[in-house]
Amino acid sequence: MDGGQGKMIVVSNAEPYKHESRDDGKTVCKEVEGGLTTAMNPQMRETGGVWIAYGRGDRDAEVVNSEGEVSVPDFPDVPEDKRYTLKRLDFSPERYDKFYRGYANRVLWPIFHSFPSKADLEREGEYWAEGYLPCNREYARAVVEAYEPGDTVWVHDYHLALVPKLVRDEVPDAKIGVFWHIPWPPWENFGKVPHRRRILEGLAAADLMGLHLEKYANNLLRCAGGCGARFDLDSNSFKLGEEEIQVEAYPLGVDFEFFNETETDGEELDIRKMYKDKKLVLGVDRQDYTKGIPERIRAFKKFLRKNPTYQEKIAMVQRTPTSRTEISEYQKEKNEINRGVSEFNGNFGNHDWTPISLFWQGIPQKKLIAEYRAADVGLVTPGLDGMNLVSKEFIAANEEPKVLILSEFAGSSEQLDEAIHVNPYDSDQVAGAIKKAIEMPEGEKKERWEELRRKVKTEDLSSWAENFLGDLDRAHRLHSMAEFAPFAQEAGEKQVMRRN
Ligand code: UDP
Repeated sequence: MDGGQGKMIVVSNAEPYKHESRDDGKTVCKEVEGGLTTAMNPQMRETGGVWIAYGRGDRDAEVVNSEGEVSVPDFPDVPEDKRYTLKRLDFSPERYDKFYRGYANRVLWPIFHSFPSKADLEREGEYWAEGYLPCNREYARAVVEAYEPGDTVWVHDYHLALVPKLVRDEVPDAKIGVFWHIPWPPWENFGKVPHRRRILEGLAAADLMGLHLEKYANNLLRCAGGCGARFDLDSNSFKLGEEEIQVEAYPLGVDFEFFNETETDGEELDIRKMYKDKKLVLGVDRQDYTKGIPERIRAFKKFLRKNPTYQEKIAMVQRTPTSRTEISEYQKEKNEINRGVSEFNGNFGNHDWTPISLFWQGIPQKKLIAEYRAADVGLVTPGLDGMNLVSKEFIAANEEPKVLILSEFAGSSEQLDEAIHVNPYDSDQVAGAIKKAIEMPEGEKKERWEELRRKVKTEDLSSWAENFLGDLDRAHRLHSMAEFAPFAQEAGEKQVMRRN
């Protein structure tokens, strides 16, 4: 990765490591699992950069210094020169609530996932003024304090849209990239956000913005146009006020080797035994109304009703770690799912067979790999998902051919053509796909699976980071040149950022 001469400054809401007190009173460091930590850790540990994140109360632990900093990972076997600085920010509970639960997750999340009716636009102004703006300012201040000439600033996700401009105002020549991990919606949705122009101004100050898919990048460019920016769908750039930014697609991948090679000590066999070797259909999603869990369960029920020969021969396992439980929509959905599943199991199952097993607990990825390997069919049917890593992890974890049923509204469906694609809201189609998956001839299964694995292996996590950082270097160099003006350039020069 070419991060230039300086260090990397990563900014994200979630932290890569947490510190927890054990029963014996000792404080231990634990990796917070997630794509971002895995993607950025190798680079961070090599270059010794700074990661700025919200500390979730961890800041109070004895481990941080007076600036809220701790060197991570402080595992005994990791030498000092393979660690980097984690700077934990601290916000008052009220402020964080309006920032995270309020603006990020009750305004941006539903709007950007095209569920505008779930957005609390009535309180948008309050969440903005008392949460989003002040918290973004704190993040930006921490970046400016950490910044030295030559550094690369990489801002992550929808919580931090204002950070690029707030940093640019203080450090005009900083190299700043943003990666947006959720979809970018069409203007008809984005345009509803009262502070829409401020959000775009915040982002436009970066050199490069990455999104998972070309269609999200195009939506963003058109939304910028809606806010009065000049935009160009050929050169993938827009200019708002004085700021010009390049916008490109980088589909996030997974750490193929990790999922492929992690040893599970045969745990998948124990899981299969637990389900008495029935065919297993697996769903794994953080609980969210965008994940289409009630619709998926409805489709599975329909499959069983339409195909009585499969009764007692198949079971569905749905692992759904709860999230954002303090938001009423999430609580309501959880209750509905529970009710629907227990009614169905009561009416349909018997003492030997539970058609649907529902788990609300999250498990570490190593355990999840065993579940991926125990399953015959992966059922990934979100209503809308920026990328969806579970679909790729399921493929990477299974050397043995399986079948993946994938929503056409998951970002990953653009790459994973050999999955069975479905409209998650068409329960007849999803029920039919389950049947097709179970009955798929071995030859076809193998052929599809090999191609899926090839893609997930090639378009993996490290290539994603490399592509983004390489392009960020180029975009920054162009921006630094006095003559940079994408709108005045010749077509040939405009293509400088396009890789395909
Ligand atoms: N995951 C996990 N334990 C669980 C369930 C999920 O570690 O019990 C992880 C999973 O491995 C994946 C992530 O959570 O990396 C979910 O990512 P995805 O892109 O599918 O959805 P998101 O939650 O980011 O919307």
